[in-house]
Amino acid sequence: MRLAFFGPPGAGKGTQSTWLTAYLSIPHLSTGEMLRAAVEQGTELGQAAQKYIEFGQLVPDELAIQIVGERLEQPDCRSGFLLDGFPRTASQAAALDALLEQRGEPLDMVLNLIVPEDVLLERLLRRGRVDDTREVVQKRLQVFQAETAPLLKRYQARSQVRPIDGRGTPEEVTQRIKTLIDQYRTKAD
Ligand code: AMP
Repeated sequence: MRLAFFGPPGAGKGTQSTWLTAYLSIPHLSTGEMLRAAVEQGTELGQAAQKYIEFGQLVPDELAIQIVGERLEQPDCRSGFLLDGFPRTASQAAALDALLEQRGEPLDMVLNLIVPEDVLLERLLRRGRVDDTREVVQKRLQVFQAETAPLLKRYQARSQVRPIDGRGTPEEVTQRIKTLIDQYRTKAD
């Protein structure tokens, strides 16, 4: 299955991705994780990305598109994948469309995790990642509203979006996602 997780920072995409990729035996393609690994390894890409991440800004589209394009070439993506944190801008979405069209592999679903802003702030400030200070978190939420939220329309126009209530415990959210996935699989059979 080919899936993309959509939702603001702190919505629980990372947590739910761990469960979902195991459930479906598909790789987890998190651009945030790939970029953080590149920063830690001190690669050229990591050096280029570091300042953006620290300030809560998006890294340039070319970097994000390159990292996803290369990852999709790996053989484990043949059985499907879960995109987490990509696409985040209109040009990333256009690049993804082109890549998937070339492969003849459209997305099956876009899972839209919906969580009110006060809950997001509370979750992010508790998490304690380097880019989880109050100032940077607020910046990331603003960037999400300005750049990423509008992309939903593109996928809604193709009836690919499935809204999920992201409130409550991780287990409760998992159960909601599982129901959607199981329904989709039953229909596809
Ligand atoms: P995340 O782990 O998805 O919250 O991403 C953490 C940070 O990595 C973001 O605040 C951005 O600085 C950067 N990042 C992750 N994915 C992307 C992307 N698709 N485009 C641009 N920047 C990204």
